[in-house]
Amino acid sequence: MDVTLPPLREVIQRHGLSASKALGQNFLFDGQLLARIARVPCGLADQEVLEVGPGPGGLTRALLAAGARVTAIERDHRCIPALEELAAAYPGKLRLIEGDALEIDAPALFDGKPHIVSNLPYNVGTALLIGWLSSDWAPWWQSLTLMFQKEVAERIVSSAGDDAYGRLAVLAQWRSTARIAMPVHRSAFTPPPKVMSAVVHILPSVMPDGVRMQTLERLTAAAFGQRRKMLRQSLKPVAGALAAAERIGIDTTRRAETVSVEEFVELARALDAARA
Ligand code: SAM
Repeated sequence: MDVTLPPLREVIQRHGLSASKALGQNFLFDGQLLARIARVPCGLADQEVLEVGPGPGGLTRALLAAGARVTAIERDHRCIPALEELAAAYPGKLRLIEGDALEIDAPALFDGKPHIVSNLPYNVGTALLIGWLSSDWAPWWQSLTLMFQKEVAERIVSSAGDDAYGRLAVLAQWRSTARIAMPVHRSAFTPPPKVMSAVVHILPSVMPDGVRMQTLERLTAAAFGQRRKMLRQSLKPVAGALAAAERIGIDTTRRAETVSVEEFVELARALDAARA
């Protein structure tokens, strides 16, 4: 489908879309960069995509050009007329929903499983990510392609022993694979944020048998709540955790930051098995 659109900067000017700090608005205009982000999920032609925070529609354009059917949730009322123009240029391909993505029941919007692609403010992005990763498994989405501050992206993909390793890494990796798909320089945004960014790509994998998310969460909360302490101290508040660790051969003089995602999963399984 060959579609000619006015330059994004012109759209922004015509609709008076000055970037709002309160809404965490840092826009992307570089068509090539946006096309590269839209290629991260691989093969979006005729696929359903949920985009949260389309703003003036730069990434939305790239997703539509890749052939996706996009549902876009945007909180800023001012962006809606600009997005309606885009919807008119791609008839039947762009569904707009005005509202707060933290409040909307997104799974209910889809019959099948969408890819989720988003460039969001940091706090909203992390809250949504935690919700998406905590959903029933297999999840209601096919993949996540999300822009984060580089430091948050590193926390999501880090491994045991890395400075950035913690609860977010375990949550993101115990039943998914997570990788940094590309770094994005701060100068790519208008206005430029203070820090660098990166696009993270997450694909769900098989849910490990015999492990409850609640148990894993209690273990990681306790262990990383006192990350510099030995497990024999930090895991004390979780009844049965130290005995379970000893049973499966995890040395309790270790600290949380050295315990791999797989070891946390094993520990949660051993603890649940002991309680069954
Ligand atoms: N996607 C556009 C781009 O890449 O140029 C805009 C990105 S800007 C960083 C984030 C967008 O998310 C803004 O348009 C903002 O209004 C929107 N937003 C912020 N909080 C939101 C929320 N809770 N629900 C939906 N959209 C939100």
